[in-house]
Amino acid sequence: MEILKTDQEWMLLALKAAKENQNIEQNLNIEQNQKTADNSDKAAKDIPVGAVIVENGKLICAGQNRKELLNDVTGHAEIVALRQAAAIKGTWRLTGMTIYTTLEPCPMCAEAIIQSRISKVVFGAYDPLSGALGSAFNLYAGKRIYPIPEVLGGILEAECSDLLKQFFAKGRPN
Ligand SMILES: [Zn+2]
Repeated sequence: MEILKTDQEWMLLALKAAKENQNIEQNLNIEQNQKTADNSDKAAKDIPVGAVIVENGKLICAGQNRKELLNDVTGHAEIVALRQAAAIKGTWRLTGMTIYTTLEPCPMCAEAIIQSRISKVVFGAYDPLSGALGSAFNLYAGKRIYPIPEVLGGILEAECSDLLKQFFAKGRPN
């Protein structure tokens, strides 16, 4: 499959979201922004994964892994982005949209993505331990009652995986 330049450009934006401790989400309320500012040390413990959701070539929202910051086991970048997109669009049905994520989605996120009716998933680094789009599992194989999104993996793979390697090489903050 031809790798479109636009896919790489969107993945660069997802990488930017992963790298920025300050959130670039548009839709957080003031209370949450305050929480973010007060917990930058907690945010530093979050594994740098970013995701953006795009519709018709237009950025809808961006999300970062916020599991530590929000003390929320479901706070993966993809879920954060899906929640924001639903809030912005006024519906959880995200048919026609593409999610770009810097790391192959885990089973939780892969299921949330398919249930959201997202049409395409583009990811950067493969995750042999938890990746649910073919690496460790394949959640989109077999009979599903939902439309199976198109999947494109390995976009800016080196950049996305380097970011994770650097994070773990530094030693995850305690
Ligand atoms: Zn996940």
